[in-house]
Amino acid sequence: MARKNEGCAVGIDLGTTYSCVAVWQEQQKRVEIIHNDQGNNITPSFVAFTDKQRLIGDAAKNQAATNPENTVFDAKRLIGRKYSDPIVEKDKRLWPFKVIPGDDDKPMVVVNYKGQQKHISAEEISSMVLSKMREIAETFLEKPVRNAVVTVPAHFNDSQRKATVDAGTIAGLNVMRIINEPTAAAIAYGLDKRTKTVGERNVFVFDLGGGTFDVSILTIKDKVFQVKATAGNTHLGGEDIDNRMVEYFVEQIKRKYKVDISGNPRAIRRLRTACERAKRTLSSTLSTNIEIDALFQGIDFCSSITRAKFDEINMKLFEECMETVDRCLSDAKMDKNSVHDVVLVGGSSRIPKVQQLLKEFFKGKDLCKSINPDEAVANGAAVQAALLCEGIKNVPDLVLLDVTPLSLGTYTTGDIMNVMIPRNTGIPVKRTEEFGTVYDNQTSASIKVYEGERTKASDNNLLGLFSLTFPPAPPGYPILVCFAIDENGTLSVSADDQTTGNKNQITITNTKERLSAEEMSRMIKEAEIYEADDRKFLRKANAMNFLDDYVYKMTNALKDKYNRSKLSLTQKLNISSAITKATYLLDDDNQQVEVDVLEAYLKELESLFGQTLDING
Ligand code: ADP
Ligand code: MG
Repeated sequence: MARKNEGCAVGIDLGTTYSCVAVWQEQQKRVEIIHNDQGNNITPSFVAFTDKQRLIGDAAKNQAATNPENTVFDAKRLIGRKYSDPIVEKDKRLWPFKVIPGDDDKPMVVVNYKGQQKHISAEEISSMVLSKMREIAETFLEKPVRNAVVTVPAHFNDSQRKATVDAGTIAGLNVMRIINEPTAAAIAYGLDKRTKTVGERNVFVFDLGGGTFDVSILTIKDKVFQVKATAGNTHLGGEDIDNRMVEYFVEQIKRKYKVDISGNPRAIRRLRTACERAKRTLSSTLSTNIEIDALFQGIDFCSSITRAKFDEINMKLFEECMETVDRCLSDAKMDKNSVHDVVLVGGSSRIPKVQQLLKEFFKGKDLCKSINPDEAVANGAAVQAALLCEGIKNVPDLVLLDVTPLSLGTYTTGDIMNVMIPRNTGIPVKRTEEFGTVYDNQTSASIKVYEGERTKASDNNLLGLFSLTFPPAPPGYPILVCFAIDENGTLSVSADDQTTGNKNQITITNTKERLSAEEMSRMIKEAEIYEADDRKFLRKANAMNFLDDYVYKMTNALKDKYNRSKLSLTQKLNISSAITKATYLLDDDNQQVEVDVLEAYLKELESLFGQTLDING
């Protein structure tokens, strides 16, 4: 008999540009990376809205050039942030879609769907990507998938982690745990090395993805993984490399044809797509061609680029990566000689020059790249998911110990940040500290919770605040404040008045940063509506296809001499009028035709001509 959770939990790498889903296969004792309906192991984190339907993944990305305002990506850059966040302010300018402030300063993406304006949160966009990943897994596993482990960057704060859990909930998933991407990658490799893992290993994870760059140092000891330090650049990745290439070719076109294409978005988009393709090719060849027909003013653009040239135009970016690597090591006070493994993660870590520089930096050390770098994170997440499932025995026992990415503390007199939990503390963790009131006859104390590294509390990020009341008390009246972070990295803070025994405990797990229960249930309902819409669209598209096919059959029946001779005049007349009606229903101008009408008409045609056409067709 199968156990309750057997094989049903997946690992999902919810990436800024691409996402990946994987599952632990108990029988084969290995992780399976699940390919999507296009046969790809990674799926673009893109959602698009049109007059007729919603598209997710490859289908959304493929039509981005013709529908830029309604094609949403980079939701991971928005999730868990405020509209007024300077990062959002900056990113917003780079997106072709519109972002506006919603309730509580929440950023909302504005799209046009089926002729109506919709305001959609980042959680909802991410939930759409997650539901696509869930669907991919369900198709492969041929059963419903509810449980998942989802990964986030190690530097994600509390609010970003919570928002990611919310996105999972909206997608109908039970997010069993949120784990850090580098930890997941190390787990993926930890499996390979488990027999050799004796003593403590220091692992350096180098993740160069589509739009972001993250490095982390982990230690693995007795199956316990701990993140020691993280560093990175939120705006450095494959897309920047593509942009450099675009700039290079724009200059070349200026010289060669004396025209500037930079003001033409369509030409730039087409050039960028060609550059990305060329970039991928250059990871395995020494030179490649770029050919774009009718790029601009009738110019059929044709050029080539060598790997050496590619390296040259991107050298600044690559060097920046190496500086970050160095910084991360000094942050962790670790000598590069103490690093046992260097793990490559992210599609852009396939670039040979990047690998060469990294290898040189680590004095010729071999890099871990046996697992596809864009699949390593999902791979590790699938292992973690299996560990959390009952009835899975073959997965090796690992314990994860993550750390806090930022220091957490409270405001104290004089706007001083009193750190309760320093950054890079292992979690779960619980820290308690006694505070004293300041004024005479004080009857309440306000507790402000901040995250960040600045000494002035107000320079840090305010996570939430609450107050505790008590009878009028002299200065120094003791209040016990407790900070606790659970294994998901979720923070709760409480304050206790010990004198009165009043356990007036307040937590801030449900701060404004998080969706309210009503918002959440509204979003879940809307997600169901979107899915119903998608299903309806598919049903209609199928009916249209069948009808189209029928018109073809009927037309053939009338055209073919042999067939015609077998049909009576009445049959011929019937068929011909059926063709007229069907053609009318299929007309592009008749989009409002209900799917029921189409299906009913198909049934009618079946019963009218089913036999006739089958005999003759
Ligand atoms: P994310 O940052 O969303 O996690 P990935 O790790 O999958 O995404 O990285 C995507 C990036 O990797 C894209 O910019 C893509 O162009 C780049 N990429 C994929 N394959 C290659 C390759 N063979 N050579 C160079 N870059 C690649
Ligand atoms: Mg990634």
